[in-house]
Amino acid sequence: MPTASDANATTAGLPGDIRRRGLMLVLSSPSGAGKTTISRRMLESDGNLSMSVSVTTRAKRPGEVHGKDYFFIDPTEFNLMVNRRELLEHAKVFGNYYGTPKGAVEEALRAGKDVLFDIDWQGTQQLAESARDDLVSIFILPPGARELERRLTTRAQDSAAEIAKRMAKANDEMSHWSEYDYVIVNRDLDESVTAVRSILQAERLKRRRQVGLSDFVRGLQAGL
Ligand code: 5GP
Repeated sequence: MPTASDANATTAGLPGDIRRRGLMLVLSSPSGAGKTTISRRMLESDGNLSMSVSVTTRAKRPGEVHGKDYFFIDPTEFNLMVNRRELLEHAKVFGNYYGTPKGAVEEALRAGKDVLFDIDWQGTQQLAESARDDLVSIFILPPGARELERRLTTRAQDSAAEIAKRMAKANDEMSHWSEYDYVIVNRDLDESVTAVRSILQAERLKRRRQVGLSDFVRGLQAGL
């Protein structure tokens, strides 16, 4: 459950009047490593963090909500968004197209809000080129091959063929772990969430993100 102190996490260590640019927190992992649960826990407990909602051409799964889980669009619409440069990054994953709409992310960053992304290594590489200063990337590894297989096969939403495809893809996905700023082996969910929170907190305090710091220090020097 979110607590008041969690919601204030963004200002811990910083006076509230120092302006800060938001950051882009990317979580990538092979399917089944626990990334979705970690993301959910982060969003529940941190009032300054919101999820980037991607567009995708894949079919909606049972229980998924348009505009919350994804914006489900057709390939023609997707191509239009690409051509109009409305996506920060885009990639083909498991035969479907996915992309991150620009507008909402840029608005949040300007307002000092942090944005969480559940995107694959292809999207992360693109953001590393176009938005390096705002990007903090974390790769989540499963604790072992057997555990990964177990998690994939107990996920009820996908067909057996889909699971087999994802198992085959997991190796490919994991070969990109070393391109990330941070790597977490998800042995224990609580510990992994704590690790992601610590990374976020430290990255928020990076000097280059404190755009109002010079004014603050001048105020200190002037005895204000
Ligand atoms: P799923 O279809 O299971 O929701 O997602 C499949 C994969 O697509 C996941 O690895 C997820 O991280 C990735 N993905 C979801 N949205 C995006 C996006 O906007 N861009 C990129 N590059 N990958 C995405």
